[in-house]
Amino acid sequence: MNANGSFKGQPAPCGKVCDGEHYEDHDDDVVVTREVEYSCGCVSIQHEELLSAE
Ligand SMILES: [Zn+2]
Repeated sequence: MNANGSFKGQPAPCGKVCDGEHYEDHDDDVVVTREVEYSCGCVSIQHEELLSAE
Protein backbone atom coordinates (compact mmCIF):
# COMPACT_ATOMS: atom_id res chain seq x y z
CA MET A 1 0.00 0.00 0.00
CA ASN A 2 1.39 3.35 -0.96
CA ALA A 3 1.39 6.46 1.17
CA ASN A 4 -0.61 8.98 -0.77
CA GLY A 5 0.00 12.10 1.24
CA SER A 6 -0.35 13.43 4.74
CA PHE A 7 -2.72 15.99 6.18
CA LYS A 8 -3.08 18.06 9.30
CA GLY A 9 -6.03 19.09 11.43
CA GLN A 10 -8.77 16.87 10.05
CA PRO A 11 -11.66 15.59 12.19
CA ALA A 12 -11.20 11.90 12.97
CA PRO A 13 -14.12 9.47 13.44
CA CYS A 14 -13.72 9.70 17.24
CA GLY A 15 -14.25 13.45 17.16
CA LYS A 16 -10.68 14.59 17.73
CA VAL A 17 -8.94 16.86 15.26
CA CYS A 18 -5.84 14.98 14.18
CA ASP A 19 -3.04 14.78 11.68
CA GLY A 20 -2.86 11.69 9.53
CA GLU A 21 -1.98 10.03 6.26
CA HIS A 22 -3.86 8.80 3.23
CA TYR A 23 -3.12 5.47 1.61
CA GLU A 24 -4.46 4.12 -1.64
CA ASP A 25 -4.19 0.57 -2.93
CA HIS A 26 -5.35 -0.92 -6.22
CA ASP A 27 -6.35 -4.56 -6.47
CA ASP A 28 -5.99 -5.61 -10.09
CA ASP A 29 -7.19 -2.11 -10.97
CA VAL A 30 -10.76 -3.15 -10.11
CA VAL A 31 -11.08 -2.47 -6.43
CA VAL A 32 -9.53 0.64 -4.96
CA THR A 33 -8.96 0.68 -1.22
CA ARG A 34 -8.66 4.10 0.33
CA GLU A 35 -7.35 4.12 3.88
CA VAL A 36 -6.90 7.06 6.20
CA GLU A 37 -4.84 6.68 9.34
CA TYR A 38 -5.22 9.36 12.02
CA SER A 39 -2.60 10.16 14.64
CA CYS A 40 -5.11 9.33 17.41
CA GLY A 41 -5.28 5.75 16.17
CA CYS A 42 -8.51 5.87 14.17
CA VAL A 43 -8.45 4.22 10.76
CA SER A 44 -11.03 4.86 8.08
CA ILE A 45 -11.20 2.42 5.16
CA GLN A 46 -13.30 2.72 2.02
CA HIS A 47 -13.54 0.33 -0.90
CA GLU A 48 -14.46 1.55 -4.33
CA GLU A 49 -15.14 -0.76 -7.26
CA LEU A 50 -14.26 0.51 -10.66
CA LEU A 51 -16.58 -1.55 -12.82
CA SER A 52 -16.67 -1.02 -16.53
CA ALA A 53 -20.12 -0.87 -18.08
CA GLU A 54 -20.62 -3.51 -20.73
ZN1 LIG B 1 -9.55 8.91 16.82
